[in-house]
Amino acid sequence: MELKEYVRDVPDWPKKGIVFKDLTPLFKDPEAFRFALDSLHDRYREAPVDKVVGIEARGFIFAPTLAYMLGAGFVPVRKPKKLPWQTEQVTYELEYGTDTLEMHRDAIEPGENVLLIDDLLATGGTASAVVKLIERQGGNVTGIGFLVELGFLNGRSKLNGHDVYALIQY
Ligand code: AMP
Repeated sequence: MELKEYVRDVPDWPKKGIVFKDLTPLFKDPEAFRFALDSLHDRYREAPVDKVVGIEARGFIFAPTLAYMLGAGFVPVRKPKKLPWQTEQVTYELEYGTDTLEMHRDAIEPGENVLLIDDLLATGGTASAVVKLIERQGGNVTGIGFLVELGFLNGRSKLNGHDVYALIQY
């Protein structure tokens, strides 16, 4: 199945110069959505995975389903002040300014095997920040998976030493 057919390019969104990869055509198509999830499942079914970590907001669309398929738990990483209990925070650089993400302090037990899942790998700033959050809690990142990778931005270089996989490459 050619998943690229279900990715819509939206030029100049959310700001001028960005070509946004809109995945809603993929999510709304039953066969494409199933194929994408089955493909991720096939990639990780042999891997040791105790927890799947998904990043707000688009990671929440499919990472919990993958957790279910793998027989793993699901852990949300959220924007500040959304999680109700004690959190660990990480702040990272954006093109202009910084961003912060949070995870509950008891989300991951030391030594647990963790699969990090998000919709898209661009510069790698978001994923590498979440890797820090996971490792700070003693988690062992066994894989980092995406639906889409913008290879020309070389986000993988920020995730050195990790098993990085994406279903769709640009
Ligand atoms: P980065 O930290 O640069 O790897 O950016 C990753 C996050 O930004 C992902 O969670 C994406 O949802 C979002 N993102 C960045 N660039 C794009 C793009 N061109 N199209 C869609 N989403 C993007």
